[in-house]
Amino acid sequence: MLPSTKYVEPVERTLDSKFKFGCHKDISCFNICCRNTDMLLTPYDILRMKTRLGMSSGEFLKQYTYVHIDENSSHPFAVLKMMDDEGGRCPFVTPEGCSIYEDRPANCRYYPVGKGLMMRESEQGPVPEEFFFFIREPNCKGYDEGGEWSIESWRTAQGVDVYDEMNREWAQLQLRRDNPGKPKLDSSKQPLIYMASYDLDRFRKFVFESGFLNLFELDDEEVEKIKVDEVALMKFAFKYLKYILMLEETLKVKEEHLTVEKSE
Ligand code: SF4
Ligand code: SF4
Repeated sequence: MLPSTKYVEPVERTLDSKFKFGCHKDISCFNICCRNTDMLLTPYDILRMKTRLGMSSGEFLKQYTYVHIDENSSHPFAVLKMMDDEGGRCPFVTPEGCSIYEDRPANCRYYPVGKGLMMRESEQGPVPEEFFFFIREPNCKGYDEGGEWSIESWRTAQGVDVYDEMNREWAQLQLRRDNPGKPKLDSSKQPLIYMASYDLDRFRKFVFESGFLNLFELDDEEVEKIKVDEVALMKFAFKYLKYILMLEETLKVKEEHLTVEKSE
């Protein structure tokens, strides 16, 4: 969830930072946080939610998200669409709580902790580094209850460590691509970035039903795996993103195509 910045504590925290928090069905603010929030979704969020709902990624994106294009970023982002009814509820909230709780997005899992990513100088040059902060919205009564946590133990208890692991490579791509000094990205690549980041079922078709397999040299074992394993397909999409963002030569065009291009 993206809270108003006025509720973001301006202190950078680490995984060892401690806090007291509890959230349960009998709390007076129950469900209050599941509305009017601008929630950026990650590739793994969408994979989990579309699988849970038995939808294709395209159907999920159309029904539950809108696209946000940040002029300072090379990436189009998928944002969870709140409902237009009174209070702008999340489409998944019910009087009993989150109807997709086991597959809720990473930002819902982290709350009331927020996570950021920035480039920091190191001996090897600038490297992406995570940082954390607490969100203290006055309506959230969770800080008055519950046990003591470190950000690390909260992350594990909420299962968001798995999400971080899945999304890390993708999150770092944006930072690496938007680092000062990189040339501005050709805007015609944005639909491809969006597809490879979020629309996994369309990306699968793109790989298997276009000339993709003929164009690139690919490992047969990897090709077989991405046919049946959605996480492997998502990771392959990150590889493709690195290639089209010109960050790494993760894919190699077959020699025969290079020869044709040279002779033209
Ligand atoms: S996905 Fe679930 S936890 Fe997240 S805002 Fe919606 S109802 Fe709340
Ligand atoms: S305690 Fe905070 S996180 Fe839990 S329901 Fe209330 S507002 Fe939401």
